[in-house]
Amino acid sequence: MRMDRISNRVKSLAASQTLAMSQKSNEMKAAGIDVINLSVGEPDFHTPAHIKAAAVKAIDENYTFYSPVPGYLSLRKAIAGKLSRENGLTYAPEQIVVGNGAKHALAEVLLAILNDGDEVVIPTPAWVSYTELVKLAGARPVEVLTGIDSDFKISADQLRSAIGPRTRALILCSPSNPTGSVYSADELRALVDALVDFPQVTIIADEIYEHILYTGKPFVSLGSFPEIADRTVLINGVSKAYAMTGWRIGYCAAPADIAKAVSKLQGQMTAGVSSIAQKAAEAAYTGPQECVEEMRRAFERRRDLVVRLASGIPGLKVNKPEGAFYLFPEVSHYFGRSDGRRTIVSSADLAMYLLEEAHVATVAGDAFGAPGYLRLSYAASDEAITEAMRRIAHALERLK
Ligand code: PMP
Ligand code: GLU
Repeated sequence: MRMDRISNRVKSLAASQTLAMSQKSNEMKAAGIDVINLSVGEPDFHTPAHIKAAAVKAIDENYTFYSPVPGYLSLRKAIAGKLSRENGLTYAPEQIVVGNGAKHALAEVLLAILNDGDEVVIPTPAWVSYTELVKLAGARPVEVLTGIDSDFKISADQLRSAIGPRTRALILCSPSNPTGSVYSADELRALVDALVDFPQVTIIADEIYEHILYTGKPFVSLGSFPEIADRTVLINGVSKAYAMTGWRIGYCAAPADIAKAVSKLQGQMTAGVSSIAQKAAEAAYTGPQECVEEMRRAFERRRDLVVRLASGIPGLKVNKPEGAFYLFPEVSHYFGRSDGRRTIVSSADLAMYLLEEAHVATVAGDAFGAPGYLRLSYAASDEAITEAMRRIAHALERLK
């Protein structure tokens, strides 16, 4: 028998369910099965042409050497320019570190600020990677549960009671993955007022979906509250706004001491990220922005479509997401029901049933700390969404 040589640190991590479901659906597709993939959250659009052209140019101009650890100065200036233009925030390039996607930037920030035994408050349902990355950093995730009746948002009172002597950070995601909920300016103000009483808490704002917003109101960054600005870290990147998931460019914009620590860590772990992708991201931030609005409009149309179709399925409880590209219906109506062959007892069962019987890939709410729910990513064509919802309705109807 082989010795168990995997570290406890990695053994205690859950695998990413979003990526696992997507992989399973791709394997079924490769085997010739007509699966509609509503599992992984990524724009289905191609990266805009001017951004791709900038990458080709970067290769031709020999941007092929190591880049500075925190990223090219020109890219960090472009990000500072974006933060000023779009969010009214002032950041120096030294406060910005470019990582391999927002996921990596977040992982590095957590490793830079957490010690063993610290606690991190995570409003839940939450994106799959938050709890696992917190654990990787030796800290303990403290999940604050919300449900569809409060539009999946935490109140200031809930936040206050979740913060204890060991709390070192809060991770807030708005617009949210997996729920699509968006905190209004007033709701953010109420949370900030509570946070003023807890100066030991670093606020990590995951704003990766800032542009995929249907409120009709401007996006409000958590970085724009002066009372907490000196302990707020923004996480963002080009994956969602510019349809650039595969390029792997994200960043943190942070107080200088945190940015410096992140850069030190990155210097040992990865060095500067892909030089070519950095030049592409620079073009994204400095080039024409119409593409962002065009994609946003398409997502809004699909949001309306998926909400209309899902609302017509009697056992699903649906809210109207105001951002991102996820629908997060409550599905517990189906628990305990059976199609005569198998009984559904959890959202993981339901996701598997829909994959195998309806050939639609979704992600179980369990993956996001919300066992009564199911996540559907509607970053897919109108035709695919319509057909997927027809199949789901038909499969759910058979559960008695
Ligand atoms: N945060 C949230 C909430 C996400 O949904 C994603 C998507 N994977 C990320 C961060 C990471 O994005 P990326 O690493 O592609 O920049
Ligand atoms: N953010 C996307 C999702 O939630 C991409 C997959 C991942 O990195 O988790 O599906």
